[in-house]
Amino acid sequence: MRSRYSAYCTKNAQYIRNSYAQSEQHNHSIEDILAFADAVEFIKLEILDTEDTQEGSYVEFKAAYIADNKSCMLHEKSFFIKESEQWKYLNGTIYPTPEKKINRNDDCPCGSGKKFKKCHSN
Ligand SMILES: [Zn+2]
Repeated sequence: MRSRYSAYCTKNAQYIRNSYAQSEQHNHSIEDILAFADAVEFIKLEILDTEDTQEGSYVEFKAAYIADNKSCMLHEKSFFIKESEQWKYLNGTIYPTPEKKINRNDDCPCGSGKKFKKCHSN
């Protein structure tokens, strides 16, 4: 989970694709993954809960990001299964979260201390 987050931050699309379960990889092209990673700027990851079951592990998290001049949150409960001794992302339930427009003169939500217009604005 954390390594997938890091891969999104560094736009390592190949790693992200490999982190999907085998049965899911065909649904996620490198191009699509890159397009998403380029469109968003992840700023914070918070793990809320984890749960291990016979079939796999659940991880509930909140990932804050900036996209299209809005402050957004991905709140998801992901399900990981083990394939070849490695944890792979199978699917997830996404919870709705509000988006907030960022004003140009606001402090940038990334925490740089700069005004948004001088930082992650586009
Ligand atoms: Zn910023």
